[in-house]
Amino acid sequence: SNTAARRDQYYAASLTRFTPFREPIVFKKGQGQYLWDTEGRKYTDLLGMNVCISVGHSHPRVVAAATAQAQELTHCTTMFYHPTPAHLAEELAATMPKGHDWVVHLTNSGSEAVDLAMTMARTYTGNLDLLALRTAYHGPTAAAQSITGISDWRHPGMPGNVAFVPEPNQYRGIFGPGTQPYLDEIDRTIATATSGKVAGIFVESVQGYGGIIEMPPGYMSGAAERVRAAGGLYIADEVQSGFGRTGENFWGFEAYGVVPDIVVMAKGLGNGFPIGAVVAKKHIAEPMAERFMFHTYGANPTSAAAARAVLAVMRDEGLQENARVVGAALLERLHGLKDKYQVIGDVRGKGLMLALEFVKDRDSKTPDKDVTTEVFEACRAQGIILSKSGPFQQCLRMVPPLCLSLDDVDQVANSLDQALETAVN
Ligand code: PMP
Repeated sequence: SNTAARRDQYYAASLTRFTPFREPIVFKKGQGQYLWDTEGRKYTDLLGMNVCISVGHSHPRVVAAATAQAQELTHCTTMFYHPTPAHLAEELAATMPKGHDWVVHLTNSGSEAVDLAMTMARTYTGNLDLLALRTAYHGPTAAAQSITGISDWRHPGMPGNVAFVPEPNQYRGIFGPGTQPYLDEIDRTIATATSGKVAGIFVESVQGYGGIIEMPPGYMSGAAERVRAAGGLYIADEVQSGFGRTGENFWGFEAYGVVPDIVVMAKGLGNGFPIGAVVAKKHIAEPMAERFMFHTYGANPTSAAAARAVLAVMRDEGLQENARVVGAALLERLHGLKDKYQVIGDVRGKGLMLALEFVKDRDSKTPDKDVTTEVFEACRAQGIILSKSGPFQQCLRMVPPLCLSLDDVDQVANSLDQALETAVN
């Protein structure tokens, strides 16, 4: 099509490398959990347009709130007073664990928020060294790339002072299942690969691009304890795992008995409008006042109005609870598929943050990128949009809008079954 040809000609190679499907889809319309292309074909969006669509595509209340704000005053730059972002800051602070004073710095994106959290941790602690997990993804800014463990996403020349620790992947982690060896490795890394004084550790409560990797019990609190003993902070990257996606809690970290010092968020907060935030304990954000720092569009009232509507819709439509119930039903159907197809090595996740992992055989657990691609393409033919993830592109990630229904689960599971049948035979 013209769109595909134009994109291929004028987009930079950095963008065209990541073209998901063999044949392009040109999207036109979205509603709830569904998308339509320019030919009128309908798809179920299990990718949530990259985990951004929390309450549903083009949700009428979100669109109305943003439209009304844009008509009145589209932009009011961060240093001035405006009620909408101020209200949003209050509402975001109220989602955090009680017993602490929380403050908010609004940004445009997740990576800007990550970048800011890195600066905040280094400024507060006076230490430079940061820890991050080997299969972490934290974003495309230079700073966020520097703590992104997956090397496919990290370009040459990124800033330093970062040490990576092995992810406590219970399926294929280097120490096997369990928590303690991974915690011991944090101690060893602090002792051998840092100055001994650290600024913090970044942890996605459930890793997204890493292939939906849940942190095992005790890992977060153990990691926080070790890093704090070395002078550092615990920083939760909730860009994917936040906003009720995991079903049982609003924030992913809440399931693990740890109160982070800094929380980074984006994606689902704006339901597609560009917005991110750092929410930090007040005393930790305080030393940032030594220098200037703001993002021109960071407290943009239009995105902030959208985000306020997202929070209201989440509550009014009970979408966190929906994620819990519908996610559990989908997980059960995925386990059924694992019983039927040997190529599925693992099924995991919680709420509406799930994945299938594909292997050449279950004993060796050799990642099977090719079969992943075949299933991915066969799903597309069935009208299901998924995303490949994992360090070997061996996982299919499911992170749909939180309004996915039980009827959708039935249809999605049947389509996956058909797609697997086609792909493996
Ligand atoms: N952190 C995580 C966990 C992410 O998944 C992403 C985006 N995929 C980011 C940070 C960066 O967010 P953005 O693309 O909005 O800059």
